[in-house]
This record gives sequence, C-alpha cells and structure tokens, in this order.
Amino acid sequence: MTIDLKKYVATVPDYPEPGVMFRDISPLMSDGEAYRYATDQLVDYARSKNVDMVVGPEARGFIVGCPVAYELGIGFAPARKEGKLPRETVKATYDLEYGQSALYLHKDAIKPGQRVLVTDDLLATGGTIGATIDLVEDLGGIVVGTAFIIELKDLHGRDKIKDYDIFSLMEF
Ligand code: IMP
Repeated sequence: MTIDLKKYVATVPDYPEPGVMFRDISPLMSDGEAYRYATDQLVDYARSKNVDMVVGPEARGFIVGCPVAYELGIGFAPARKEGKLPRETVKATYDLEYGQSALYLHKDAIKPGQRVLVTDDLLATGGTIGATIDLVEDLGGIVVGTAFIIELKDLHGRDKIKDYDIFSLMEF
C-alpha cells in the first residue's frame, strides 16, 4: 500500500509571521495509517544504517524519533531547550533569523562510538539539526544518518549538513 503523505500536510500561509508558508504535520499524525506509514519508512532507513540510538530535538523531533526507537528496541535521547534537562549537559548553539538559540543533551545520553540517527519533523535552514549533530558528536557519537518527514528545498538545509546522509519522506 502506498499513501500520498503530502495529502496529510496542512499548509498555513503567513504563520508564524507574514511571508512564511508553514507546513503542519499534525493531520499526518492524527491519521493512524499515515503516521504508521511514515514511521515505517523511517524505521527502514534507520535499520539500513544499523542505528543503535535515536536523537531528536524538542519538540516535534520527539514525535518522529520516539516511535522509530520503540520499533527498533533502541534508546531515544531528547535534545532540549535551555533549562529543561535536570542533570549535567552539553550545549550547542545555532543561529536563528534574529539572534541565537541553544540545544542541550544530557552528558550520558550517548556513549562514545554509538551509531546515532538524528531526526526531526522538518529540515528548513538546517540550524536545528546541525546543533543536534554537534551535541551527538561532542559526546563521541557517530551520526550515521539524518531523517525528516519534510525537507524545504528552498532553504538549503541540505548544504549545512552535506557531510551526512539525509533521508526525507517528502519535499516542498
Ligand atoms: P531549521 O533549523 O531552520 O532547519 O528549522 C527546522 C526546525 O524548525 C524544526 O525543528 C521544525 O520543527 C521547525 N520548522 C521550521 N519551519 C517549519 C514549518 O514550516 N513547519 C513545521 N516546523 C517548522
């Protein structure tokens, strides 16, 4: 069975600010068949890379990464914003349109040499996933792949992570 996943993405013009076309995956997640179909493809990709850990950034990276980790019977580590992780962390900063932001991982989230899949709902400029990759590598993990439900081609995030394998289920 093939499902046209694009049908399950809502496009919202001028959100969160004028000129931006926001791609909303919540219709995909609310449909059990579509969510499973998307997840199954990400699982196949992760399996092909012999992944032993999944890492995803707050918050939609959890929605994408956790079912993959569950299905493979491996761990998931959340990359979180400032002040959310209670124990010792590593930090990676990245540029936003105006200013900077940061993501954190618990220091014991990844063991050196682990093969890690880094995943999020959407690749735009690549800043978020770039910082997530930096965190994994800071802890000695090996990023063996990156996976997304959506890739926004015009924002060239792919160029920022060109040294890594990239898998996306659809492009806009
Ligand atoms: P980047 O850091 O510029 O690649 O932006 C990707 C991050 O911003 C991801 O964590 C996405 O969840 C979020 N994001 C950016 N644009 C969109 C969008 O159109 N729809 C949903 N999330 C978006």
